[in-house]
Amino acid sequence: LRLEVQDTERFRVISELTGVFAHEIRNPMQVSRGFLQLLDEPDLPHHQKEYIKLSIEELDRANEIIHDFLALGKPSNSTYETVNVSEQLERTAALLQTFNVNQQVEFKIDIQDDCWMRSDPQKLNQSMLNILKNAVESMPDGGTVSLSCHQTADGHIRITVKDQGIGMNPKQVQRLGSPYYSLKEKGTGLGMMVSYQIIHSFNGKISVDSEEGVGTEFVIEFPGVGA
Ligand code: ADP
Ligand code: MG
Repeated sequence: LRLEVQDTERFRVISELTGVFAHEIRNPMQVSRGFLQLLDEPDLPHHQKEYIKLSIEELDRANEIIHDFLALGKPSNSTYETVNVSEQLERTAALLQTFNVNQQVEFKIDIQDDCWMRSDPQKLNQSMLNILKNAVESMPDGGTVSLSCHQTADGHIRITVKDQGIGMNPKQVQRLGSPYYSLKEKGTGLGMMVSYQIIHSFNGKISVDSEEGVGTEFVIEFPGVGA
């Protein structure tokens, strides 16, 4: 099934919801952090000071995760840069290969030099990482993830991510990107939602082609800018 994803209303609602979640979770965390700091008196026993320090660090870490994962916000022009997608993708792929626990999964990378687009590099990275991670996870018994990036004749940046994994049936493809939709035991069901939202915010298009037992291919296309 090839499905063009362009459900603008759904993206808008999701974007607003996640913004609200991020805000609602951050507030109580900030309050707790404040009280922890108040508890930290100079004459406290060492181990208690240590507990407070650890708690504050953990709260800061959770805050980071929310920032990276849920703080999608509205696309603001101030964070946009002219990004070298080729370099960015090379880095994302290298990162994934470093942390890839499944030794049976190989990467085939075909990235054309000097593909440029306007985007927020961190968000672009996050959107691609989520898709690439799924590709790896779809092949528990190993296989190849093919990642390519090229500039099309009409100046678009086309990125493809193809795996040889378990694939999806049409119903599953349809549900991709819905919040908390996950078929994995420890999945969050947020990865694709985040990716779709980010890609959409860069005026990108994503399409999915998947067959059960054969694999999945994502094609992502962004408006490019000349090098
Ligand atoms: P999670 O990975 O935490 O489950 P995602 O939003 O990233 O959440 O993905 C949602 C679901 O979509 C996955 O649980 C999986 O069932 C399906 N999926 C996504 N990408 C692929 C893929 N490349 N191959 C097979 N299934 C996929
Ligand atoms: Mg995922």
